[in-house]
Amino acid sequence: MRDPNAGLGAMLARSARRRCPRCGTPGAFESWSTLREWCPACGFAFERESGYWVGAMIINTTVTFGLFIVVMVGWAVATWPDVPWTALLVTGLALMLVVPIAFYPWSKSFWMAIELSYHQLEPEEREAAARRAAG
Ligand SMILES: [Zn+2]
Repeated sequence: MRDPNAGLGAMLARSARRRCPRCGTPGAFESWSTLREWCPACGFAFERESGYWVGAMIINTTVTFGLFIVVMVGWAVATWPDVPWTALLVTGLALMLVVPIAFYPWSKSFWMAIELSYHQLEPEEREAAARRAAG
Protein backbone atom coordinates (compact mmCIF):
# COMPACT_ATOMS: atom_id res chain seq x y z
CA MET A 1 0.00 0.00 0.00
CA ARG A 2 1.21 3.49 -0.84
CA ASP A 3 1.61 6.24 1.73
CA PRO A 4 -1.71 6.62 3.55
CA ASN A 5 -0.50 9.95 4.96
CA ALA A 6 0.17 11.59 1.59
CA GLY A 7 -0.40 15.32 1.19
CA LEU A 8 -3.27 17.01 -0.59
CA GLY A 9 -1.45 17.18 -3.95
CA ALA A 10 -0.77 13.45 -4.04
CA MET A 11 -4.31 12.64 -2.95
CA LEU A 12 -5.78 14.96 -5.60
CA ALA A 13 -3.61 13.26 -8.24
CA ARG A 14 -4.96 9.89 -7.10
CA SER A 15 -8.50 11.25 -7.22
CA ALA A 16 -8.01 12.63 -10.73
CA ARG A 17 -7.43 9.01 -11.77
CA ARG A 18 -10.49 7.95 -9.70
CA ARG A 19 -8.32 5.93 -7.34
CA CYS A 20 -8.57 5.62 -3.58
CA PRO A 21 -7.31 8.95 -2.18
CA ARG A 22 -5.84 7.22 0.86
CA CYS A 23 -3.71 4.54 -0.81
CA GLY A 24 -3.87 5.29 -4.57
CA THR A 25 -5.10 1.82 -5.51
CA PRO A 26 -7.30 1.61 -8.63
CA GLY A 27 -10.80 0.21 -8.24
CA ALA A 28 -12.43 2.76 -5.94
CA PHE A 29 -15.31 2.81 -8.45
CA GLU A 30 -17.09 -0.42 -9.39
CA SER A 31 -18.50 1.25 -12.52
CA TRP A 32 -17.99 4.61 -14.20
CA SER A 33 -20.16 6.41 -11.66
CA THR A 34 -20.67 3.97 -8.78
CA LEU A 35 -18.27 4.25 -5.89
CA ARG A 36 -17.59 1.16 -3.80
CA GLU A 37 -18.40 1.27 -0.08
CA TRP A 38 -14.74 0.96 0.80
CA CYS A 39 -11.36 0.64 -0.85
CA PRO A 40 -10.60 -2.97 -1.81
CA ALA A 41 -6.94 -2.50 -0.84
CA CYS A 42 -6.78 -0.37 2.32
CA GLY A 43 -10.36 -0.74 3.56
CA PHE A 44 -10.98 3.03 3.76
CA ALA A 45 -14.78 3.57 4.01
CA PHE A 46 -15.43 6.28 1.44
CA GLU A 47 -18.63 7.69 3.00
CA ARG A 48 -17.22 8.71 6.36
CA GLU A 49 -20.39 10.11 7.93
CA SER A 50 -23.98 10.90 7.10
CA GLY A 51 -24.24 13.93 4.82
CA TYR A 52 -20.67 13.37 3.68
CA TRP A 53 -21.41 13.88 -0.03
CA VAL A 54 -22.67 17.44 0.38
CA GLY A 55 -19.03 18.47 -0.14
CA ALA A 56 -18.99 16.63 -3.48
CA MET A 57 -22.20 18.40 -4.50
CA ILE A 58 -20.60 21.75 -3.67
CA ILE A 59 -17.54 20.88 -5.78
CA ASN A 60 -19.72 19.72 -8.68
CA THR A 61 -21.88 22.86 -8.53
CA THR A 62 -18.82 25.12 -8.32
CA VAL A 63 -17.12 23.47 -11.32
CA THR A 64 -20.34 23.55 -13.38
CA PHE A 65 -21.10 27.22 -12.71
CA GLY A 66 -17.44 28.20 -13.02
CA LEU A 67 -17.18 26.59 -16.46
CA PHE A 68 -20.54 28.07 -17.45
CA ILE A 69 -19.42 31.59 -16.55
CA VAL A 70 -16.01 31.26 -18.22
CA VAL A 71 -17.54 29.95 -21.48
CA MET A 72 -20.45 32.37 -21.57
CA VAL A 73 -18.51 35.49 -20.66
CA GLY A 74 -15.47 34.48 -22.71
CA TRP A 75 -17.58 33.79 -25.80
CA ALA A 76 -19.60 37.02 -25.41
CA VAL A 77 -16.46 39.12 -24.96
CA ALA A 78 -14.66 37.41 -27.87
CA THR A 79 -17.56 37.99 -30.30
CA TRP A 80 -18.72 41.41 -29.04
CA PRO A 81 -20.74 43.25 -30.40
CA ASP A 82 -22.10 40.52 -32.69
CA VAL A 83 -22.73 37.93 -30.00
CA PRO A 84 -24.47 34.78 -31.30
CA TRP A 85 -27.06 34.76 -28.52
CA THR A 86 -28.93 31.65 -29.68
CA ALA A 87 -25.77 29.57 -29.94
CA LEU A 88 -24.66 30.94 -26.58
CA LEU A 89 -27.99 29.96 -25.00
CA VAL A 90 -27.93 26.44 -26.46
CA THR A 91 -24.31 25.94 -25.41
CA GLY A 92 -25.01 27.24 -21.93
CA LEU A 93 -27.97 24.90 -21.49
CA ALA A 94 -25.94 21.96 -22.81
CA LEU A 95 -23.12 22.73 -20.37
CA MET A 96 -25.55 22.88 -17.46
CA LEU A 97 -26.91 19.44 -18.42
CA VAL A 98 -23.70 17.63 -19.35
CA VAL A 99 -21.04 18.93 -16.96
CA PRO A 100 -22.64 17.90 -13.64
CA ILE A 101 -23.22 14.37 -14.97
CA ALA A 102 -19.81 14.03 -16.61
CA PHE A 103 -17.98 15.43 -13.59
CA TYR A 104 -19.99 13.45 -11.00
CA PRO A 105 -17.42 10.72 -10.21
CA TRP A 106 -14.59 13.24 -9.95
CA SER A 107 -16.61 15.48 -7.65
CA LYS A 108 -16.80 12.56 -5.23
CA SER A 109 -13.17 11.51 -5.56
CA PHE A 110 -11.87 15.10 -5.29
CA TRP A 111 -14.08 15.69 -2.25
CA MET A 112 -12.68 12.57 -0.56
CA ALA A 113 -9.11 13.81 -1.14
CA ILE A 114 -9.82 17.33 0.13
CA GLU A 115 -11.75 16.13 3.17
CA LEU A 116 -9.16 13.48 4.02
CA SER A 117 -6.36 16.08 3.79
CA TYR A 118 -7.71 18.05 6.75
CA HIS A 119 -9.67 15.31 8.55
CA GLN A 120 -7.34 12.38 9.10
CA LEU A 121 -8.86 9.01 9.90
CA GLU A 122 -9.92 8.62 13.52
CA PRO A 123 -8.31 5.65 15.34
CA GLU A 124 -11.54 3.61 15.11
CA GLU A 125 -11.82 4.33 11.36
CA ARG A 126 -8.20 3.22 10.92
CA GLU A 127 -8.88 -0.03 12.82
CA ALA A 128 -12.09 -0.73 10.86
CA ALA A 129 -10.20 -0.08 7.58
CA ALA A 130 -7.46 -2.49 8.60
CA ARG A 131 -10.06 -5.17 9.42
CA ARG A 132 -11.77 -4.72 6.02
CA ALA A 133 -8.43 -4.76 4.22
CA ALA A 134 -7.49 -8.00 5.99
CA GLY A 135 -10.70 -9.54 4.66
ZN1 LIG B 1 -7.28 2.61 -0.39
